[in-house]
Amino acid sequence: MNCVFCKIRDREISKDFLYEDKDVMVFPDINPLKPVHILVVPKIHMKDFLEFSDKNLFLKVKTAIDKVIKSQKLNNKGYRVSVNGGGAQIVDHLHFHITGPIERSMEV
Ligand code: 5GP
Ligand code: ZN
Repeated sequence: MNCVFCKIRDREISKDFLYEDKDVMVFPDINPLKPVHILVVPKIHMKDFLEFSDKNLFLKVKTAIDKVIKSQKLNNKGYRVSVNGGGAQIVDHLHFHITGPIERSMEV
């Protein structure tokens, strides 16, 4: 499978991880859209959010997202956790974007 995030997981593409355990990896987006733009990526290949059904893994991802928000000091500066899916994604390996700081707004 020609998946960039599987290659990063398998160290075929070198990447400095901000955090890693056996289930989750966290690294900066290569093309940041905000001053903070970090990806939280389950290591197992799932192509889309709708494939994500493992509750334990969900909790691990949530814990990693919490760590990023707090370590980047975004808790009071505005942050967004986002997932593209259903064809809106560029990389077909489930990942969560954490971006910030973000002003309060009705824009999506
Ligand atoms: P998507 O549109 O699939 O939700 O977003 C994929 C994201 O992965 C994009 O923001 C893109 O910049 C990022 N990305 C793509 N390839 C790489 C890579 O090799 N390394 C890193 N760190 N980010 C990548
Ligand atoms: Zn993959």
